[in-house]
Amino acid sequence: MPDVTRTEEIAARLNEVRMRMAAAAQRVGRRPSDVRLVAVSKTYPLEDIEAALAAGQVDFGENRLEELWPKVKAAQERGLGAIRWHMIGAIQSRKSRDAIGPFALIHSVDRVKIAQRLSRDAVAANCVLNVLLEVNVSGEASKHGFTPGELLVTAGDLLALPGLHICGLMTMAPFEVEPERTRPVFQGLRRLRDELTARHPKGEWRELSMGMTNDFEIAIEEGATIVRIGSAIFGPRNG
Ligand SMILES: *Cc1c(COP(=O)(O)O)cnc(C)c1O
Repeated sequence: MPDVTRTEEIAARLNEVRMRMAAAAQRVGRRPSDVRLVAVSKTYPLEDIEAALAAGQVDFGENRLEELWPKVKAAQERGLGAIRWHMIGAIQSRKSRDAIGPFALIHSVDRVKIAQRLSRDAVAANCVLNVLLEVNVSGEASKHGFTPGELLVTAGDLLALPGLHICGLMTMAPFEVEPERTRPVFQGLRRLRDELTARHPKGEWRELSMGMTNDFEIAIEEGATIVRIGSAIFGPRNG
């Protein structure tokens, strides 16, 4: 079992994050229950996940399949079956088969090739994957994801992939010392979602996964339905 002080620390930090999320939602007339919190547990041990679970947190995100799978298996062995796992990091095409698993949502489908591979592997495994399409709204060369223009062109083909259930969009804003400066990125993702909804009304496009420790309140004000928060819950990561 995790030690008591660490459990209390995580519970208190979670509580603080939830209150800030609710306040941000209420500022713009949204219901706090319309925004789901994914606790990003990458680099943190299963004990910390267990502590957060005890405090009522059920959605957890990891960015590397090499770290996610051992945690999924260890959690199953410990009877922590209530956890909903989210894959939030880039997937190599060669590793696409490892993304077929008991995952609630894959946030990081960032290019056509990986979408096709995942769909093929899902069909072979006789399942359908819930996914988000990752968008590089800011256009930074270092960021993964479709450009908005690319996505508008390819969305029809992506929607036709039989192994994928596309639920919406995801983005990562660049880190800004002034979080307010991320607002245009989140507005851009929401506008893109509206455009896709208009052009492809049969698609679902419901989820907007945006906002991290530094900027989640701004993202919620701009319509995030999922925020991915790590360090505000578990503390700063080393590297
Ligand atoms: C690490 C990570 C997060 C969480 O970052 P924090 O700043 O610790 O909240 C969110 N999304 C993705 C894709 C990440 O890799």
